[in-house]
Amino acid sequence: MTLTVLSVASEIFPLIKTGGLADVIAALPAAVASEGITMPTLVPGYPAVMDGLREATTVHQYADLHGGPARILAGTAAGLSLFVLDAPHLFARPGNPYLAPDGDDWADNAFRFAALGAVGADLGRGIVPGFTPDIVHAHDWQAGLTPAFLHYGEGPRPATVMTVHNLAFQGQFPSELLEAIGLPPRAFSLEGVEYYGHIGYLKAGIALADHVTTVSPTYAAEIRGKEHGMGMDGALRQRSSAVSGILNGIDVNIWNPATDKTISSKFDAKHLAARAANKVALQARLGLALDPAALVFGVVTRMTWQKGIDLLYEALPAIDAAGAQLALLGAGEAALEDAFVAAADAAPDRVAAVVGYDEQLAHLIQAGADALLVPSRFEPCGLTQLCALRYGAIPVVSRVGGLADTVVDANEMALAAKAGTGVVFSPVSLAALEIAIERTAALWRDRTAWKGLQRRAMATDVSWARPAARYAELYRTLSALRAG
Ligand code: ADP
Repeated sequence: MTLTVLSVASEIFPLIKTGGLADVIAALPAAVASEGITMPTLVPGYPAVMDGLREATTVHQYADLHGGPARILAGTAAGLSLFVLDAPHLFARPGNPYLAPDGDDWADNAFRFAALGAVGADLGRGIVPGFTPDIVHAHDWQAGLTPAFLHYGEGPRPATVMTVHNLAFQGQFPSELLEAIGLPPRAFSLEGVEYYGHIGYLKAGIALADHVTTVSPTYAAEIRGKEHGMGMDGALRQRSSAVSGILNGIDVNIWNPATDKTISSKFDAKHLAARAANKVALQARLGLALDPAALVFGVVTRMTWQKGIDLLYEALPAIDAAGAQLALLGAGEAALEDAFVAAADAAPDRVAAVVGYDEQLAHLIQAGADALLVPSRFEPCGLTQLCALRYGAIPVVSRVGGLADTVVDANEMALAAKAGTGVVFSPVSLAALEIAIERTAALWRDRTAWKGLQRRAMATDVSWARPAARYAELYRTLSALRAG
């Protein structure tokens, strides 16, 4: 059965990206196409989106959408089929999509993303002739009001899915805005958009979508508890029977060590020897000692508390004691950036820290590092460990969220059974991280064990094939229920 699904999101790679969400939104349409599903995506008309848009036609106009005229454009960009909400008074602002130049949230974010939500709902109800989606799939808080507008609106509506990519970002706004953003008074209830006295955009989506997904089964379970629920655990427990986890994949064409033009030496699982040249290139580029015997830990990350980067900093002596090197690429909190730059200045042959965002270096780290460290405190899915598996950089990860679901710990029993793809540690503490570093170093010294780990890591299916089949199954079930 063919289905049409409208995806609604605020980010899409390569046009606009602040995190893994953008990668997923860009990959999903092609992934589900193989399941017979057509998926255009509605995104705000940020300058980068408008610049990238080709063959655009106006398919609907609004005389006034929260303070100015707006229109829906249909077109393509970077091979993606898009609806674009062109509302210059809301979105014609370069740079970070959520933050003003002073670093604070844009003062009108409530209206900007109420507009996105409302237009998602309009498209869902068929405001554009010839386009009537079977499902509307909203992503993260920016699109959280789409299921709410569909729920409270009149007439038949498509089925709705809300996906939580990161519960840490919730979109909360003052209750006084309820009418101004276009919701009826009855929406302000425990079963509706109300969230601790505010309007919660993500809460709205969680409460009112027909189904809620998050990006790994373990995260789906974790967020129903106090520790990882971030205040939303109650709302999620209310919806328990409608909450599930579907892992992300990665684009295995972009991330393919056998064809990757950005790395120094192409390789695959059968030609692992060719990988060594990437390690030399990485060490040379970052000024590390050109020592093939030294275990190189790579890190590619946002530098925030979520990612456990402060723990990693404290673990630098353990990395040194293991005779290992660190190759870090990251950007984020200034204090963390500064700490790693200082550590690199103090020991440039063993520690390298590149502050910034650099896709090409990210590829070289995955291809050249022996292991990839991901000591996250929480991780909805995580993409970097999937890239690491594909490139034979052994992932060393905390046992949380999607990390727990994608990396198989190479403990003694696993190794005896010729299983295991990485090193998994818990709890998320300095002591446990130090032990994981020591364990990794011990595995590294056993060349046969290490090669086995690499081969199994690289054989792991990190593509979108399985996740796409899961989404397709969900869409079909929901659509049949509504039709039924
Ligand atoms: P999150 O979305 O929480 O930041 P993910 O692991 O899900 O974490 O996705 C992060 C994505 O961004 C990955 O594709 C990763 O390679 C990329 N990335 C993160 N930091 C950098 C950086 N400094 N340079 C290049 N790519 C980065």
